[in-house]
Amino acid sequence: MKQNYIGGEWVDGATAKPNVNPSDTSDIVDEYAQGDEAQTLQAIAAAKAALPAWRHSNVQARCDLLEAVGTKVIERKDELGELLAREEGKTLAEGIGEVVRAGQTIKFYAGEALRIHGMRVPSIRPGVDIEIVREPMGVIGIITPWNFPMAIPGWKIAPALAFGNTVVFKPADLVPGCGWALSRIIAECGVPDGVFNLVMGRGSVVGETILTSPDVNGVTFTGSVDTGKHVAMSCAARNKKFQLEMGGKNPMIVLDDADLDTAVATSLNGAFFSTGQKCTASSRLIVTEGIHDRFVDRMREGMQALNVDHALKDGTQIGPVVDRSQLDQDLEYIEIGRSEGATVTGGELLNRDTEGFYLSPALFTETDNSMRINREEIFGPVSSVLRVKDYDEALAVANDTDFGLSSAICTGSLKYAEDFKKNSEAGMVMVNLPTAGVDYHVPFGGRKGSSMGAREMGPHSVEFYTATKTSYTAA
Ligand code: NAD
Repeated sequence: MKQNYIGGEWVDGATAKPNVNPSDTSDIVDEYAQGDEAQTLQAIAAAKAALPAWRHSNVQARCDLLEAVGTKVIERKDELGELLAREEGKTLAEGIGEVVRAGQTIKFYAGEALRIHGMRVPSIRPGVDIEIVREPMGVIGIITPWNFPMAIPGWKIAPALAFGNTVVFKPADLVPGCGWALSRIIAECGVPDGVFNLVMGRGSVVGETILTSPDVNGVTFTGSVDTGKHVAMSCAARNKKFQLEMGGKNPMIVLDDADLDTAVATSLNGAFFSTGQKCTASSRLIVTEGIHDRFVDRMREGMQALNVDHALKDGTQIGPVVDRSQLDQDLEYIEIGRSEGATVTGGELLNRDTEGFYLSPALFTETDNSMRINREEIFGPVSSVLRVKDYDEALAVANDTDFGLSSAICTGSLKYAEDFKKNSEAGMVMVNLPTAGVDYHVPFGGRKGSSMGAREMGPHSVEFYTATKTSYTAA
């Protein structure tokens, strides 16, 4: 059984829960501890007790710790990538890629630990000096989703520690394996007792205790819109700093002048890779009428050729859906799309050698933007094509959504590409690239219903993980 990590000790949870492989439900990855309220409070108390020393710790010590963690993560990429693919259902290549990305991100923040800059400015009052410095926020609660079980914990834990905060980390209940393995590495690399704590368990128990404890100073959350709204209300009521990354309904515009090969490759990738279980997935393909029919034909051909199978099998391009309830949600939306009048290609349950949650990619055509399938996040290998007259209509449809995480355009026209970069209401805009796939040294995040609070990743994360202090000194 894999234990929780509290105050430098590995401890049993109140109960334990099996972690099931979605490619083969007879394969139990391991049993993982489930913390309760009392254990979560212990972890918060340990983080609070460790804060005074860590917040004043030498920045080289923080840099060295994160450098060691990032290096170990990358060294163990094959084993950890296999664990990721086994518990979450991404393909092995995607799993290894995510692990490497987590390691790179953690190493990036090793450097950022040395770059906590302040400012000294002249006062408007004679004989007075002003200093503006960034200080750690305090105890940070980290709550993460199941779809990037290594990358997202990495991009939250690393800046939290780099900037002198202590941490209580709650990974997604469905896939605790990667979070546990990362925590083990952090412990082995010598993080001081209490500076970093892991409490696995349910959102309604462990997560809720993190939200309501007065000793947690900030909460960084990635997950669904409904839970995110709850996190926001709960934190706001307690004057607690928070940061939310939530869902998406990301548009990919394909214009008549697009290179068809690029348009199809980026759309297949954005819509269906990682089983479409990405907040940045291309779920609305907005296509102008001159290229529409050719694009749809090529998408159908491309989907037919995609190999959906066991995540660890050679040649698999799309793994299974993460679990039964997500599969049920995907199937329900496929039915909703049909009943709304859309035509569906794919979206069928598949039998493979092992019992798992296999679904062929689904593409809706003949849809309009008012349909539920185009307004609500489905979070599976399901995408829609929307036919539009021209660029102006494409832009209007792309922006007509409650979300604003990522957007893309495929075009050979500099004029439209530049206009789209200026007028897309999304936090991240891609030209001739999939909506998914980002770098780790630049800000990540969205607008409207997709995000709230400071940006994550890159140097911008300093905004969330630090508090600004302005000091005045009379000479
Ligand atoms: P979820 O909202 O169900 O859970 C997210 C986390 O919140 C989990 O750790 C869960 O245990 C916890 N939680 C649940 N109830 C809670 C409560 N009452 N208090 C505190 N914590 C609670 O989301 P999910 O199903 O794990 O992840 C999928 C969602 O995440 C999708 O909507 C996807 O778009 C989103 N996502 C967003 C981004 C982004 O950066 N924008 C990235 C990845 C995933």
